[in-house]
Amino acid sequence: MLIFECPYCGVLTDETDLAAGGEAHLKRFGPGSSDDEFESYLFNRENPKGIHFERWRHVNGCGKWFNVARCTVSMEVFGTYPAQTLEPPAEIKDKISEKKPGWKWKEFS
Ligand SMILES: [Zn+2]
Repeated sequence: MLIFECPYCGVLTDETDLAAGGEAHLKRFGPGSSDDEFESYLFNRENPKGIHFERWRHVNGCGKWFNVARCTVSMEVFGTYPAQTLEPPAEIKDKISEKKPGWKWKEFS
């Protein structure tokens, strides 16, 4: 069972108190974007075997959205952070790099 610490209320909570919200850090495309960009934004998602960044909502708690960095193979959780951040905090990226040498954060532009 997945257990995360909500970055807002600080409670250790398991997945029965949470709702999954899919991939975190999606680049949004709106008016003016090409059809391919918009289609990709709507339908294409990462499904990695390894490090993944996901959105979760603390539905049976504070109700807020947050992001989780975890490994989909080992189920290890590297940390949680507020959903409003544009990329994972440095301490989480450092923690991942320590455990998974060679891992790189994807580029956003
Ligand atoms: Zn909470």
